[in-house]
Amino acid sequence: MLRYLSLVITGLAAALVSAGVTPAYAGQCATSQFRLDSDFPAGAMAQCAVIGEDRIRVTIAPEDDPPINPSPWYAFRLNPIAPNDGGMVAVEIDYPQYAHRYWPKVSTDTEIWDRLSPESVVPLIKDDEGRTKRVLLKVQLSDIPVFIAGQELLTPEHYDEWFAKVEQHDDVRKWQVGLSAEQRAIDAITISARPGTQKEQVVLIGRQHPPELTGAIAHLVFTETLLADTELARRYRERFETIVVPMVNPDGVVHGHWRHNTGGVDLNRDWGPFTQPETRLMRDLLVGIENDPNKDLRLFLDFHSTQKDVVYTIPEEFETDPAMLVSNWLKRYQDRMPGYEVVIEAGHNADRPVSKAYIHETFGAPAATFELGDETDRKRVDRIGKEAAIAMMETLLQTEAP
Ligand SMILES: [Zn+2]
Repeated sequence: MLRYLSLVITGLAAALVSAGVTPAYAGQCATSQFRLDSDFPAGAMAQCAVIGEDRIRVTIAPEDDPPINPSPWYAFRLNPIAPNDGGMVAVEIDYPQYAHRYWPKVSTDTEIWDRLSPESVVPLIKDDEGRTKRVLLKVQLSDIPVFIAGQELLTPEHYDEWFAKVEQHDDVRKWQVGLSAEQRAIDAITISARPGTQKEQVVLIGRQHPPELTGAIAHLVFTETLLADTELARRYRERFETIVVPMVNPDGVVHGHWRHNTGGVDLNRDWGPFTQPETRLMRDLLVGIENDPNKDLRLFLDFHSTQKDVVYTIPEEFETDPAMLVSNWLKRYQDRMPGYEVVIEAGHNADRPVSKAYIHETFGAPAATFELGDETDRKRVDRIGKEAAIAMMETLLQTEAP
């Protein structure tokens, strides 16, 4: 085994530590054929080990103890070691405490992603409950690095590209809500055809939970639909001002966290305590709307992902202003989605300080958590984002102005 390099912690990791940045999972392993690392934004693995010339085992563990919602995120890169004949190599993913959840996605540019084929993903160890504890990925090396991740990567760099694109629109202004614990920008856009004059406000936030990519993609498509050059979208922008905060937890995203920010807190359980800088920024944004006599919050949506497409709502019997807005929106949305069932789960747990409960209890405004399935077909994710946005604009335009 001497010809193989075993686990090597890079100098980069040490440099990051001395710079005061937590390198959650910086590290790498190399065989004579390829080097595996996670030293890029959203890259994550707990450790790796060389177990053969063409085989590396990656161990996945959460960012914090005690155990959190099991969203076992992974993202690593296979770098060919020249000369490389484009051969197949094996990467095992090992889950000591948890189980495999995200189907592996592959990319060479972190922009275009494909799912690994079914024959390339082989369960090696299952537990008594049938959960996969170790999975083997067969990956074709390329002459450029190949990224493998639990979901597509959508990092601050990707959001910056998106902001640059939507900022071209006359009705969009980008601004910074504030800074995360590690001083990353939490950026927003305001969409408005008549800046500063519109009373009615809509707030759309996302990415409290780093691995929840399908919700994040739907959020961007939803937002772009509000910017469309259609009569509906123009009328909507004329009457409503929309604030969009697509990435509330940039530190968690960059570190490849499963759930938390760098304070070890699930941000969507902090809407009440507000112990974290990221959630305090969201609170201040919303309280600022509430305290402004010229503004009125009409709808708040929080985008997430889970095992299936589902919208978590506040029970219909709870009064909101506008009345029945979420129910009416989701009826319209269902009408626009023939052949697809809009799943709605109403609930209100006062003991769980989540965004939607806070919005309703504090401001009496309609609020919902809009969840996409982890593996929902990406064309369907786009369709969901678009049709849900059209239905929302139609429904809001039918309400009485305050
Ligand atoms: Zn979530």
